[in-house]
Amino acid sequence: MLALAAARLGFDVAVLDPAPDAPAARVAAKAIAAEYDDPAALALLAQISDAITFEFENVPAAAIQTLADLGAAVAPSGRALAISQDRLAEKTFLNAAGAPTVAFAAVGGPADLAEALKRHGAPLLVKSRQGGYDGKGQAWLERADDIDAVWRAAGAVPAIAETPAGFDRELSVIAARGRSGEVAVYPLGENRHVGGVLRQTTAPARTTPAVQSQAEQIAVTLLAALDYVGVIGIELFEQRGGGLLVNEFAPRVHNSGHWTLDGCEVDQFEQHIRAVAGWPLGPTRALARVEMTNLLGDEIDAWQALAAEANARLWLYGKTEARPGRKMGHVNRLGPLDP
Ligand code: AMP
Repeated sequence: MLALAAARLGFDVAVLDPAPDAPAARVAAKAIAAEYDDPAALALLAQISDAITFEFENVPAAAIQTLADLGAAVAPSGRALAISQDRLAEKTFLNAAGAPTVAFAAVGGPADLAEALKRHGAPLLVKSRQGGYDGKGQAWLERADDIDAVWRAAGAVPAIAETPAGFDRELSVIAARGRSGEVAVYPLGENRHVGGVLRQTTAPARTTPAVQSQAEQIAVTLLAALDYVGVIGIELFEQRGGGLLVNEFAPRVHNSGHWTLDGCEVDQFEQHIRAVAGWPLGPTRALARVEMTNLLGDEIDAWQALAAEANARLWLYGKTEARPGRKMGHVNRLGPLDP
């Protein structure tokens, strides 16, 4: 979707992806099939590109640094990516920047879990520091007897123990920062997760101006603290009374921003290309209320019925294999904004 947005703005896109038939590679002007940290591939990319970005948070941060060292205009920075790849560094950074999160403790082994239980009480959500996403590498710790089992369930790797967020609902804010520091923030999305995986985003979320402006403040603060360029996705917990906590941020276009494809004049993909290319940012206001539903695994088989819906816009990613739970596409259902 980034490659499509870039092409529409007149750019030629080169895609580096280990899979030769990667969906983005098939709609780009040039494909480089190599590992993300392949030195020759990175050197080639740096040489042929005016600007470089990424849309997958498991690209090694060192590869982004290599591109920067080669003089490439790469954004977001390797630093922003590295922080987002480590839940402990991320929550520590968020708090230091003034963005509130749940209380948390660093966990290097079962003894730290015992200590965290003493200090914060039960339950605690134990998450691996690195590599986990969509609820993987996570386990709830309810009592001291379960410490060893939970340590193993979370992967027996360096972890973070979080207190429960106690949220009424999950929201997210998509925002962008340009090369000269200007910021654009989209209306909030309301997210429904099942089993740690995003199922549905409804946006603009029905909320108060106070909550929207709180989210905007968090986005502005975080983007400045990261000296960020590009689109960021920030996942939030809304607590009773409207207070927001940050769960995590993704240094890229975000699944909960897919509604902007059909709900906004300038969607998150075009916005990201504008930011990294040094263009002015575009408007972020919503033109419709959108319900975005992910199509997981064989749910994509319903494409014909979905394509026949008058107010639905279907986005299929061209992935060749519909493994269970894999994000294969999404459908945006459009309705009117509240009067
Ligand atoms: P994450 O991998 O951090 O995005 O977490 C996946 C999902 O787990 C979130 O979207 C929430 O639904 C839930 N979750 C994560 N952290 C907490 C927490 N501290 N308390 C309660 N639920 C959480």
